[in-house]
Amino acid sequence: MPTCHNCDRVYESNGITRHRMAHQRRGETVIVTMRSGTWEYPPLPATQPDSTSITDADKSDEP
Ligand SMILES: [Zn+2]
Repeated sequence: MPTCHNCDRVYESNGITRHRMAHQRRGETVIVTMRSGTWEYPPLPATQPDSTSITDADKSDEP
């Protein structure tokens, strides 16, 4: 079973990806063991495009 070493918990094989990405979005490096081995994933800078699009929407409301 896939294991998240950040939490020291075991996850479903289709849930570990979501869980791993949640760590990455929080700016954490996450270490996961799967059938294929143990992998270290760097943090994602993924929140930046979201906050930019929200700013764009706010701008369009103003004259
Ligand atoms: Zn975790």
